[in-house]
Amino acid sequence: MLLVVSKALSLGLDYYAFRLEHRYHLSNQRVGSWFWDETKGWLLGLLLATLLVELVYYMIRESPVHWWFLTWIVFIGLFIFFAQIAPVVFLPIFYKFEPLDNERLKLRLVRLSERAGTRVRGVYEWKLSEKSKKANAALTGLGPTRRIILADNLLKNYSDDEIEAVLAHELGHHVHRHILKSIGVQAAVTLLGFWTASLLLHYAVERLHMFETLSDFANLPLLVLLTTVLSFLLMPLLNAYSRFNERQADRYCFASIKSVAPFISSMNKLAQQNLAERAPSNFVEWFFHSHPAITKRVAAAEQWVKPEAPANS
Ligand SMILES: [Zn+2]
Repeated sequence: MLLVVSKALSLGLDYYAFRLEHRYHLSNQRVGSWFWDETKGWLLGLLLATLLVELVYYMIRESPVHWWFLTWIVFIGLFIFFAQIAPVVFLPIFYKFEPLDNERLKLRLVRLSERAGTRVRGVYEWKLSEKSKKANAALTGLGPTRRIILADNLLKNYSDDEIEAVLAHELGHHVHRHILKSIGVQAAVTLLGFWTASLLLHYAVERLHMFETLSDFANLPLLVLLTTVLSFLLMPLLNAYSRFNERQADRYCFASIKSVAPFISSMNKLAQQNLAERAPSNFVEWFFHSHPAITKRVAAAEQWVKPEAPANS
């Protein structure tokens, strides 16, 4: 019921976001396809939320004192499981993927990863252009599902040197284990969330007498409210952590490509194509941006000095 009500309330805003992308020629998606994606996303959310909420209340009933800690342990396992299945189960619900069919680029990636002393299991072409005019690339998966995904509209419109720079950045995320570290950060945030939820529920039941028991389902909106407030308050912190990782991946890229020029040109092309705000105000960047401003990333590349190779003496 809660998900039905919240979707009914947010649908107008979601549709506005869809129209906005069209107004600025950023989207290739028709309204039918958009509506189908919304439906699939909502059903997936319903399935996962139902399972997780049932789990939380089961734990509250079984262990009213320690539920928050025990549920946290189970959630860590779920985070790892979801990160692992995301590229093979969740992403294909919305996009098509194909193994990269370009021997020249594959060879370049193999050379990059050999120099890094690591091995990425796969590079996939992400069929993004049937829905969006924006280009993107990402590192996803964990363990056997680890892969780099490159949007088809990036593969088509960028030079091999520029694509190599993007690949090197994603490889930087892989080498620095950013997905695993982010799960760690997410786990810490979740522990804080569960602990706060436990305090809040005890207070609401024992002091305010708002509910008869801790496991009263009626307190679910209160838990959702707490999650929303906490996520909002922690957003600058999590974004700062993400920007730290992005800068690290950028530096890894600078060190592993021959010249930073293709990195700079790919950044400028991406900013133009995606209509990114090149130089947002410090506050906007601090609060909302998971990536450093384009102007800062380009400046860092321009100032990059290759470390001297150790002298053979
Ligand atoms: Zn990145």
